[in-house]
Amino acid sequence: MDGYQKELLTAIAAVRQAARVTQAVQKQITDDVLEKQDRSPVTIADYASQAVICHALKEAFPDDPIVGEEDAAELRGVENAGFVDRILEELAAIDVSTTAEEVCSWIDHGNGSAGSRFWTLDPIDGTKGFLRGQQYAISLALIVDGELTVAAVGCPNLPLDPEDELSPGSLLFAVRGAGAFVVSIEDADFSLADATKIQTGATVDWPDARLCESVESGHSSHSRSAQIAESLGITKEPVRLDSQAKYAVVARGQADIYLRLPTRKAYQEKIWDHAGGALVVQEAGGTVSDINGKPLDFTQGHELTQNRGVVVSNGPLHDAVVKAVQDAGVS
Ligand code: AMP
Ligand code: MG
Repeated sequence: MDGYQKELLTAIAAVRQAARVTQAVQKQITDDVLEKQDRSPVTIADYASQAVICHALKEAFPDDPIVGEEDAAELRGVENAGFVDRILEELAAIDVSTTAEEVCSWIDHGNGSAGSRFWTLDPIDGTKGFLRGQQYAISLALIVDGELTVAAVGCPNLPLDPEDELSPGSLLFAVRGAGAFVVSIEDADFSLADATKIQTGATVDWPDARLCESVESGHSSHSRSAQIAESLGITKEPVRLDSQAKYAVVARGQADIYLRLPTRKAYQEKIWDHAGGALVVQEAGGTVSDINGKPLDFTQGHELTQNRGVVVSNGPLHDAVVKAVQDAGVS
């Protein structure tokens, strides 16, 4: 881990700081907000999360570009001044005092281009889960020469202790070649030595295998995954959860397979939806590929243009799952 210790510690601290804001905002979501299908909480949390993470990275690594999901173009419109004020309030609550102009410039710092060394950020992955009060992730990864190198994935609603729903959320991290680990998302006095190493499950028998997928059938075909599960002899019900928390549960052995099966011809997966989670799973001993068994190619800018869909597994099951996906005619 030595070569990238500063990157790792900066990424963990930044994700943790962002999680404080997103957790505070998620707590404010009321039934009324849900009924009105008001997306403003996620918009505020999304911008605030990108702002604090980009600020932290800019301070520590001023020359590193960040390819983030958001930009501040809309936020700068006069009609959105109220939004900016709410973002400033949420940041003040975690002791970040700043100005509207500065916040927009931090967010726009996440508007960089992919190069030989860059970060990619999804400030709130799984916005629908966030609004439902369920799983979401804050996913940050460093890519060097096309290789996933450092990852920090915050899952504020994924219990650190899978047996204890009331335990704090999880922050998973990994450095290429150094393994994958989990720590509490809330533990501010953390040291790397306190982290728990994680490993994918050893499942090799289909009746024991657990599959996970998106809650949203528009993001991954549920009917195709059911067909594939049946062809493999998987008997357990699939677990549906939003965001890169799916990578987290595979990395910890709570699930063995994560399928993301294309629902539309034209859709291209975005790098920030996979980079962080993929490195965590790989370093935990799992395998990540597209539906054709090809490794994900992070050298193509902000989309995985050379890949179709995603297949994630504990490792031992991978080839058989890819074959079943192919045999089901998924393309
Ligand atoms: P999940 O929470 O796994 O369902 O994935 C959420 C992510 O799905 C969002 O961050 C979007 O970038 C991405 N997304 C949006 N539309 C699609 C689509 N048609 N197929 C796959 N992913 C999508
Ligand atoms: Mg996303």
